[in-house]
Amino acid sequence: MDKNEILQKIRSTCKGKDAVALYQELAGVIQDTFTEERTAAEKYEGKRAIYLSCEFLVGRTILNNLLNLGILDEVRTLLAENGIDINMLEEIEDCALGNGGLGRLAACYLDSAATLGIPLYGNGIRYRYGLFKQEFVDGFQKELPDDWQRFGDPFSVRREDKARKIVFGGGEALAVPYDMTIFGYGGKVCLLRLWQAEGNHEAQKISEYLYPDDSTDEGRILRLRQEYFFSAAAIGEAVDCYTARYGNNFKRFPDCYVFQLNDTHPVAAILEFIRLLTEEYDQSFSAACAIARKCFAYTNHTVMPEALERWYVPLFYKALPALGAIADKLDRVLQREYRKKGLTTEEIDKVRIRQGNMFHMANLAVYMCFSVNGVAKIHTDIIKNKLFDVTNRLCPQKFVNITNGITQRRWLGLANPDLAAWITEKIGDGWRTDLDRLSALREYASPEAYRRLNEIKAANKKKLAAFILAKEGVAVDPESIFDVQIKRLHEYKRQLMNALSILTIYYRLKDKSLMDFTPTTFLFGAKAAGSYFRAKAIIKFIHEIAARINADPEVNHLIRVVFVTDYNVSYAEKLVAAADISEQISLAGTEASGTGNMKLALNGAVTLGTMDGATIEIIERAGQENNYIFGLKASDVDKARGIPPVAHLADPYIARAIASLWDGSFSDGGTGYFKNIYDALISEGDRYLVLSDLEDYIRAKLLSNREYKDRESFARKAFMNIASAGYFSSDRSVKEYDERIWHTKSYIGQN
Ligand SMILES: *Cc1c(COP(=O)(O)O)cnc(C)c1O
Repeated sequence: MDKNEILQKIRSTCKGKDAVALYQELAGVIQDTFTEERTAAEKYEGKRAIYLSCEFLVGRTILNNLLNLGILDEVRTLLAENGIDINMLEEIEDCALGNGGLGRLAACYLDSAATLGIPLYGNGIRYRYGLFKQEFVDGFQKELPDDWQRFGDPFSVRREDKARKIVFGGGEALAVPYDMTIFGYGGKVCLLRLWQAEGNHEAQKISEYLYPDDSTDEGRILRLRQEYFFSAAAIGEAVDCYTARYGNNFKRFPDCYVFQLNDTHPVAAILEFIRLLTEEYDQSFSAACAIARKCFAYTNHTVMPEALERWYVPLFYKALPALGAIADKLDRVLQREYRKKGLTTEEIDKVRIRQGNMFHMANLAVYMCFSVNGVAKIHTDIIKNKLFDVTNRLCPQKFVNITNGITQRRWLGLANPDLAAWITEKIGDGWRTDLDRLSALREYASPEAYRRLNEIKAANKKKLAAFILAKEGVAVDPESIFDVQIKRLHEYKRQLMNALSILTIYYRLKDKSLMDFTPTTFLFGAKAAGSYFRAKAIIKFIHEIAARINADPEVNHLIRVVFVTDYNVSYAEKLVAAADISEQISLAGTEASGTGNMKLALNGAVTLGTMDGATIEIIERAGQENNYIFGLKASDVDKARGIPPVAHLADPYIARAIASLWDGSFSDGGTGYFKNIYDALISEGDRYLVLSDLEDYIRAKLLSNREYKDRESFARKAFMNIASAGYFSSDRSVKEYDERIWHTKSYIGQN
């Protein structure tokens, strides 16, 4: 790649363009410059790892690509010379083909693999509409379609030559791949192949929406078709390429391909592989299984029973008849094998693929994959000792922990350029490809460094405050503490507990029973799944609290609450750079890893959190004394469930906060939302133990609030968090996947 050539081309054509035209121009120039690299990636002949994922939450690509190509600053200057503000590109839509952490993880891994030259190939669905756009009307969430291709998709190439027919129960579709170039730091590339469904109306529906409504059989069949559609396309393509090279002897297949299943959504790939080999390549069932067992690896992302994919057997057969028969056959093989090995009926029942009338996809994955990994230490322990304990006793070597990571290019370099520049000034810019170097910052620990950190944070907060004023119409004080909780809205993540803590603090401020409170802005960013009633109820509740507090002249100089609209990757970049406090407050044992926790720590936010997911590993490195830890440990949870929720209402302010859910303090507009929340806490046993943890949470929150006043000592905590974040680079995660699971050995662009 020649930087100057790119800049020259841009210089000659950028003048007078609006955001969209400029975007297309820049993208076109970059894309053209990398034709050779793309072809090389495609033609690569060594072993490759295929990352199968229903979600790739890529975010806005243009600025990140310029950054990774090392020309962001030059392009900014060049555009400025031509009277163009590069920030204009913020009008370009995010590519939001994912929901949250799991999809963003896939995107970070591609960034890292491209940077490291690891031959990782993304495979997913090119949804016509990505994750919905969120609006609030009167505090109620409204979901609008996300037309992410509105301004084109200039980093992708349609590959009609690679289209393939996919047949499913009751129809067929043409799968047409679009190859998106993922630019790694320094200009190496990876390919993200997104399959688009074409054909009749039924066929097109397959790639229309991310997570269609699955409350009806029709919706569930569509969802199964989606999962099968891209899995089968990826498998078909791999098998075609392989047989073109090696013919029908599949012995070497595992030396050429490994498939990483990002959660169970692509598990149909295993069944499809067996189907193809037995039906079309004349392999015996056991031979096909033996090969399959060497090339599939599974990442588990959740231990919550309702989030583990299970399919009603007749429905599965209807959608995918051939695969249903294979799943049943595998189930019989499993029973025979495990009976021989001496497992009890009870043990076998726990690991069976078929559980009564349901296919259990995680059990299928665990049985057939040579590797099963959790995404943080505690999570891997839980899957080994609880969820998949039987298999773990039989083959412990199958289980691996690979703690999630994030790419420092986007989450520090792009999101927080001032902090990035300061770090570079101190320790050089090696951190961009070796985040462990951050530990060298410790040598620069000094009051002067803390002052500078505070300045950088203050400037980021000012920028965010201006953005929030423009976008949300709410004025927030950039001098106040920015306390940030940003993540999908889910009961286990306990945004409700945060809301109740704020309400409690509000009542105490009103009563003057809480003096000496440092002004704080509580920021929420979250989308609730359209069909998730209680999550939407919590959004409305937070909006009601925000409206009350922000309009109350007695306290609104001390406390403000903002629920930002349409939280996505681009908003996240602004929020993480400006956060003082990172809320990571899931009930211990429920958050598999989290990656938001890493982004915030890397940007110098201090964690207010529970010992859960990767937060445990963050604290291990950054020090408990530099963060605010509270609440139940995972090992305490079972015991805590024995205490009735009402036993936690002794504090009058907490009692009043809970009462405000039913006593008419707030209106849910007759939706029944607040009663529903109240029932969750009081009548339904408070599944996520909000009330058990609330008091200790408020204690920790108020402690952080007091300690913030000592600006130097608080900045020292932030500093220690930054200096300890090296481990959480997705470069480290991807290297671990490669060394421990994929074994791709030869790297693109090297040797
Ligand atoms: C990182 C990220 C997430 C995941 O956040 P968690 O706090 O780990 O749940 C979700 N959404 C977006 C847009 C992100 O960037």
